[in-house]
Amino acid sequence: MRHLLLAFFLCIGLLLSAACPASAWEGKWQVDSFNGVDYVHLSDVWKFYGFSPKQGKPGCVSFGAGNRVVSVRPSKQDFYVNNFRYILSYPVLQSNGRLYISAIDMSKLVDPVLRPRLSKSGRITTVVLDPGHGGHDAGAVSPYAREKDCNLALALKVRDKLKKAGFKVVMTRDRDFFLTLGDRVAIANRTPESIFVSIHHNSGRSAASGIETFTLAPHGTTSPFARTRRTEDLAGNNQDSENIALATAVHSYSIKKTNAIDRGIQRARFSVLCTIKRPAILFEGGFVTNPQEGAKIASSAYQNLLAQCICDGILRYTFNTRPTSAPVRHSGSGSTRAGTTAGTPRAGFSRSSDGAIITYPSRYSK
Ligand SMILES: [Zn+2]
Repeated sequence: MRHLLLAFFLCIGLLLSAACPASAWEGKWQVDSFNGVDYVHLSDVWKFYGFSPKQGKPGCVSFGAGNRVVSVRPSKQDFYVNNFRYILSYPVLQSNGRLYISAIDMSKLVDPVLRPRLSKSGRITTVVLDPGHGGHDAGAVSPYAREKDCNLALALKVRDKLKKAGFKVVMTRDRDFFLTLGDRVAIANRTPESIFVSIHHNSGRSAASGIETFTLAPHGTTSPFARTRRTEDLAGNNQDSENIALATAVHSYSIKKTNAIDRGIQRARFSVLCTIKRPAILFEGGFVTNPQEGAKIASSAYQNLLAQCICDGILRYTFNTRPTSAPVRHSGSGSTRAGTTAGTPRAGFSRSSDGAIITYPSRYSK
C-alpha cells in the first residue's frame, strides 16, 4: 500500500514533488549586513534556482520555473510557494532599489522547501503522534469543542491511516490522561527512525479561523512566541531542514484539501519543539472558538479529512527525504556530485575576505 502511494506521488507530480534543481549559476553570493542580520540579494536567489519573472500574488514580487511560483512581499515576512504561506524569520528588505532576503531564511527555509531532497532524514519507519493536552489540561475550550478531545480524536484517525500505509505509530497518549511536555519529548527521543507530529487546535477571537503549522525557529533567530530573549532562547536544533520540509508537506496538503484559511508555516520555540532530536512539527488544525470551524473540528467527517491530509503529508515527506543515490547538483560548487542526497550539505552562507561566498559548513548550517 505504502509503495503504491509513493509511486502515485511520483507519477502525478503534485506541488511539492520535484526537487528544484539548482541552476548552472556559478556566481558568488553577495552578503550584506543590515542591523546585524546578513542578507543575500533576492536577484541572486532567482538566478541560483534558474527562476524568471512570473505572475504571482497581488502586491508580491514573483519568480519561478515550470509550474512553481515563489512570491515575496517587500518589507513583510510573507513568503509563498505556489500560494502556500510561510512566515520568514526576518522581513524582506528593500534598499537602493534592490530586494534582499536574510541569509538564514535562504538557508533554513527557502532551500529546504525548494529542494527537500537535500534534507537528510534518512530512513523513517515510525511516526510519534502527540495529541496535545489531556486529563486535567483541556487546552482550548468553547461551546463548540474541547481541544483535548479533538486532538485525541484526530490523532487516533491519523494513527489508523498511517498504520494502513505501512508505518509504525507510537502515541504519546491514546486516551484522556495528562502527561508533561517533557514526557512527550522523551517518548519521541527514545523512538528510533521516527518523526514527531504534535496535534493541537487553536483558540482566539470568534472570527479567527484557519490552519497553522509550527516548526522550531532556526538557531540565532528570535521567535514571536519566545517568552524571553535569553541566549538559550536562540538555540535551534540539528533538524532545521527536516522540520520545515515536514511542515511543508503536512501543511500544504491540509490547506489544499480543506480550503481552510492558510495562517502559514510559522516559527516558534515551544517546549516540545526545542529539545526534540527528531524532525518535528506542531500542527494546529483550526479554531475551537470559531462557531463554524469549531463545529467542523468536532465532527468525525472533518477529522477524517484532516487525518488523511496529515497522513498524505507524512508520506510525501518520507518520499521526498528518502535516501537515494541519484546525482544531485551541489549548490554553490557549480558541479554535479554523485552520492546520497541524504548526506549532501545544504546551502549556507558566510563571509570570506573577498566578499561573500557559500561555504560549508557555515554557522547557518548549525
Ligand atoms: Zn493546544
